[in-house]
Amino acid sequence: MLPTRGYVAKGPASKLEPFTFERREPGPHDVLIDILYCGICHSDIHQARDEWGGAIFPMVPGHEIVGRVARVGSRVKRFKIGALAGVGCFVDSCRRCASCKQGLEQHCEEHLVLTYNGTEKDKKTPTYGGYSSQIVVDEKYTLKISPKLSLPNAAPLLCAGITTYSPLRRFHVGRGQRVGVVGLGGLGHMAIKLAAAMDAEVTVFSTAKAKEQDARRLGAHAFVVSKDPKNLEALANRFDFILDTVSAPHDLNAYLNLLRRDGALALVGASPEPLAVEPFSLIHQRRTLSGSLIGGIRETQEMLDFCAKKNIASDVEVIPIQQVDAAYDRTVNGDVRYRFVIDMKTL
Ligand SMILES: [Zn+2]
Ligand SMILES: [Zn+2]
Repeated sequence: MLPTRGYVAKGPASKLEPFTFERREPGPHDVLIDILYCGICHSDIHQARDEWGGAIFPMVPGHEIVGRVARVGSRVKRFKIGALAGVGCFVDSCRRCASCKQGLEQHCEEHLVLTYNGTEKDKKTPTYGGYSSQIVVDEKYTLKISPKLSLPNAAPLLCAGITTYSPLRRFHVGRGQRVGVVGLGGLGHMAIKLAAAMDAEVTVFSTAKAKEQDARRLGAHAFVVSKDPKNLEALANRFDFILDTVSAPHDLNAYLNLLRRDGALALVGASPEPLAVEPFSLIHQRRTLSGSLIGGIRETQEMLDFCAKKNIASDVEVIPIQQVDAAYDRTVNGDVRYRFVIDMKTL
């Protein structure tokens, strides 16, 4: 076994603290990655504080991982020692079900092995995430990172990047299309960059007028203060696609009504309370309401390659790991532009 250092939450109310645990020895298909940077995703906080229930403690969070390959198993083909590598929200799946076979491992019908707060394929051994010195992952679930990308900025692509890229692709966002992005946080800022790079005309909806300059800098063509319903009403039946990244309760109908005929709205933010849908918001213009969950390995690689080609990555604030609790509080308060990333050499 490989002794590994990390930061751990021992319970829902405890601060994160240093921790030592063991990783498995790399098997024939595994790569050992020395972790260089790990993003702080809002879902790390929900899970470390057990806000979604069922949390497994002690918990080492982190699923926006980039690093360098330090060792490869005897049958590994895609990675060499010294290569850059990334790990996202899951590290294995059943590989047999219809979803796995279609490259949609995130929807594995048997057992998705989450990067942390989950269990290995034996459904017993807990998994530990990226707030740690190293990780061992099957090469099939390891992503290639282009040296063109800045590493700390690339880390959040592994969750925030694919979460926004996948629905944009699924709904065929492209040149000349009108795309709305609701909310400008960690997910929203990636959605703007990606949709603009796909040549869409991007409009950002935010409650905070102060974010307009940032939205435009990130690539938005228009900015709408969503607090005033009149601002939305003026844009009815206009959008091809809307990506809703807001994780607080809000009026979905106000946004559905902005879609043209056959337009679609996809949710990637998870409101803790149900969102009411007026049937006529969907019946009129036969609109679609959808959701989206990260992305499969194949599509995650496609997104990373797209980002390298278009020179896109996350806007980040790099912190030493000792500041992780303060970063959690600031993330909850929306006080980050737009993602915290832990510099793992401070561990
Ligand atoms: Zn995440
Ligand atoms: Zn499966």
